[in-house]
Amino acid sequence: MNMRIVILRLGHRIQRDQRITTHVALTARALGAEGMLLDSDDAGIEKSLDEVKNRWGGSFYVRRITSWKSEIKKWKEAGGKVMHLTMYGLNLPDAIDEITTCSLMIVVGAEKVPPEVYELADWNVAVGNQPHSEVAALAIVLDRLNASSGKDSLSSRFTGGEIEIIPCRKGKEVKSK
Ligand code: SAM
Repeated sequence: MNMRIVILRLGHRIQRDQRITTHVALTARALGAEGMLLDSDDAGIEKSLDEVKNRWGGSFYVRRITSWKSEIKKWKEAGGKVMHLTMYGLNLPDAIDEITTCSLMIVVGAEKVPPEVYELADWNVAVGNQPHSEVAALAIVLDRLNASSGKDSLSSRFTGGEIEIIPCRKGKEVKSK
């Protein structure tokens, strides 16, 4: 099954979270998500990811939103499901078999996530029930979701863009497209 995945980044603080939110978006892009909704008016993240897209290809987008609640509502009304990443949730290995939807929104927090998110989510999922990083949690979830639909997260090719890496054992090789 080909699963459409969009990230919803909640609680981004413009000064404090710029780097980590950029890393959430880069990880999402590299591991096959189609885009990220950002609950903040921080244009910097969108700009960085647009630069990455122009240079490295693909169609990943960042869209700034004003109401996370209405984005979740719209997503669910269109038939999509919502997974919230939280260390308090069901551990991923115990939940993954239930997650068979073809449209999945993955909610990733920065600061404390509003309690309502836990109710609106179809699944509250932990990547191990210990606190760690949203980037690590997202990477593992995307990898497991890809694996469960027979895809290898690390083999995706990106169309368009200006350059491409030629993998090599030593040094760096980059080809212009
Ligand atoms: N400091 C924040 C607070 O008030 O609790 C939480 C910071 S935490 C690093 C940010 C996000 O990382 C969480 O909202 C969650 O999405 C994700 N996260 C952290 N540990 C996780 C885990 N074990 N499983 C799933 N997601 C996790």
